[in-house]
Parts: sequence; C-alpha cells; structure tokens
Amino acid sequence: MRAAPDILVAGAGVIGCATAYYLALQGARVLVVDREAAGAGASFHATGLFSPWRASTDAVLNAFFDASSRLSQDLLPRLKEETGVDTLYQVREGLRVALRQDQVVLGKTLAAAPGLAGARLAYLDGGEARRLEPRLSPNVLGALWCNCFGQVDSYRYTLALAQAAERLGAQFQTARVIGLECQGDRLTGVRTSASVLPCERVVLAMGAWSAETSAWLGMLVPVAPQKGQNMRLRWDGEPLRYLMGQIGWGHLIQRADGFLSAGSTEEDGMGMDATSTVDARDRLMAHALSIMPCLETAQVVRQFAGPRPRSQDGVPLMGPAPAMRGVYLNTGHGGTGIELAAASGRHVAELALTGRSSIAPAEPFLPARFAG
Ligand SMILES: Cc1cc2nc3c(=O)[nH]c(=O)nc-3n(C[C@H](O)[C@H](O)[C@H](O)COP(=O)(O)OP(=O)(O)OC[C@H]3O[C@@H](n4cnc5c(N)ncnc54)[C@H](O)[C@@H]3O)c2cc1C
Repeated sequence: MRAAPDILVAGAGVIGCATAYYLALQGARVLVVDREAAGAGASFHATGLFSPWRASTDAVLNAFFDASSRLSQDLLPRLKEETGVDTLYQVREGLRVALRQDQVVLGKTLAAAPGLAGARLAYLDGGEARRLEPRLSPNVLGALWCNCFGQVDSYRYTLALAQAAERLGAQFQTARVIGLECQGDRLTGVRTSASVLPCERVVLAMGAWSAETSAWLGMLVPVAPQKGQNMRLRWDGEPLRYLMGQIGWGHLIQRADGFLSAGSTEEDGMGMDATSTVDARDRLMAHALSIMPCLETAQVVRQFAGPRPRSQDGVPLMGPAPAMRGVYLNTGHGGTGIELAAASGRHVAELALTGRSSIAPAEPFLPARFAG
C-alpha cells in the first residue's frame, strides 16, 4: 500500500501544480488530487501575459509581483530543459496603445514608475508609436512601450509544472475533494468522492471553486468566478513584432505558435457559465481592429471562456487556514494567476513545510483576514 503523502494538494491548476513542484523540490512526498485533468480549469486558456509595469499601488503586493516575474524568468526556461515541454514562452517588446485621454494619463503614470523585474518603460506619442508599428490605427493617441513583455501558453506551463513535480516524485490522482477529516483542530485526512486519503497537511488550490471550502473550514473563503473570454485568430499578414493591447485593458498578441490572441472580457455575476458568446466575439474583434484596422481579414479559429478566481479584496489568499492545523490555502489570484504562480507556489510550499517564506511577508496574504 502507498505511504501517506507528507502533503496533499487539492486542485491541479497552475497554482496547485506550482505548489506541488516547489514542495517536491524541497523533498516532500506530494499527492495532487483534481476532479479533472491537470490544467482543466482557468489555467487551460489564460492569455498568459507577464505585465512588466507596476501591478498595484500597494508596495507589498507590487513586490510580490516583482518577485514572481524574476522567479518565472528563471523557472520557465528551466522547465523546458527539465521536462521537454515547450511552454511557448516568449519575451518581446510591448506596445500598449491609448485611444482615450484617460489611457494617455494612465500610460504616463505607469511609464514614470520603475518596471517589474528591471523592465524599462517609456510613454510615446502617437507619431512615435506609429513609427515603431506603422499599421497602428490613426486614432492611436500614444503608447506605453516596454523592452520586455512576457507571455506563455498557460496550459503548457501548467503541464510542465505538473511533469516537473512528477519527476521529483509527486503523484497525481483523479478524484473530487468533498471535505476534510479532523481530530480536534488537527487535519487527519482529505475526503474525496472515492475514499478518505490520510494526510496531516493539505494545500487547497481549487481556483474559482474555492468558496466550496468555506463549509469545510468554518470561515468565509470569498473567492468568486469572473468570467473571461478570449480568442485565437489566424491572419496571413506580416507577424506582429510587439505584444500589444490597450493601456489598462485587453491584449492583441502574436503567440509563439503563430496564432494571434485577442481578449479578454471581464464579466461579473455570471457564476460558472463557460459558454462562448457572439457578443464577446464581436467586442473582442472590435478591440483588435481599434488597434490595427488591417486585421479585418483575420479569421476566428477558436473562442474560449472560463472563470478567473477573484478574491473579495483583489489579493490572493495564501497561507494557513486559521482554525484548522495543517490546512493551507493558495487561491484567489484573479486575472494574474499565471504571472503569480511561481511566487505563490514557492511561498505557500515554504510556509507549509517550514512556517516561513523567503518570498514575502506572510501577514498581508493570510486567509485569516476573512475569519470572523
Ligand atoms: C480569459 C482569461 C485570461 C486570463 N489571462 C491571464 C493572463 O494573461 N495572465 C495571468 O496571470 N492570468 C490570467 N488569467 C487568470 C488565470 O487563468 C488564473 O488566475 C489561474 O489560471 C488560476 O489558477 P488556479 O490554479 O487557481 O485555478 P484553476 O486553473 O481553475 O485550477 C483549479 C483546479 O481545481 C480543481 N478543482 C476544483 N474543485 C475541486 C474539487 N472539489 N476537488 C478536486 N479538484 C477541484 C479544478 O478542476 C481545477 O483544475 C486569465 C483568465 C482568463 C479566464
């Protein structure tokens, strides 16, 4: 019979797989349990952008983004070497355009702050932006330029993390987690639809489904789904040199597999609805054409829809659950779970194994802020 794991991870999205990877890297015996295949949730089709500008005005949160950018730059090429999975990671210059006056103001503000992980930023007027990319719309008022903008295929990234964890001994199992087994305030096992899996520590990384854990933990886990839709386009024109989008919204990029990606909608109050809509397709196409009118000949190849796991205060819940020893949360990453996977995985792995993190202070991210 298989020995009980040192630690179980519930959820095999990018956050659960990154946590499993860093746990296994530190020598822990890890079991990852997901009711579906790895990467079947939001991590399946996220755009996978690593934005190089300040993410927040909150210094701690911003430092966390900075740490994750630096870690990811090291991790992504290494994962390809370790697993052979090509994550389609690319780093290029970025050009986010302003079509309205408020975007001009935001662009200038972002350009004035230091970029994440040492990135260089500048604000260009419309003429300067069109000199870099002559196909930009004449309506472009200006653009935020940066020297290094990253993007990865989020599904391949998740699979690469899962495979790297497996190579370090982590095991994966398909089952739906339905509750926790405890003696007093101490965890003794995880209940699944098939059996009880004995363990003394668990990391709950269930993305947009995390609110289900409120009943298990006797506290509010305020993570709600925000529906996001994006799409892939085929286009025969000269490839885009820059990773583009509008300032503060959306993206228009050439993926490393040659397809264009355009997105993404932000739809609240839709629950777990994962249907692709004609309305979203039309809005996203209008967004792409507002940046580059010559894309009118592009064809939609595929449209995706899925739930971003948004926390109530916009900050991920990372760390121990307050009332139950051995239980940790790693969830609520909203629209930045791919960007934050490396730092979040390592942060929670270190907290679960040693009680300390070399990545960030624990306090600002603790789930206990929602207890009581
Ligand atoms: C359109 C769109 C574009 C995005 N673009 C970006 C981007 O450019 N950059 C970025 O950083 N982020 C982006 N995101 C956000 C990103 O997708 C998420 O933040 C990230 O994927 C969350 O990862 P996760 O592992 O927490 O959740 P998920 O990937 O959803 O994984 C959760 C897993 O838990 C499993 N699960 C749930 N309940 C149970 C249970 N009871 N038992 C067992 N398993 C369970 C699910 O099956 C799933 O596999 C985007 C999201 C969308 C929708």
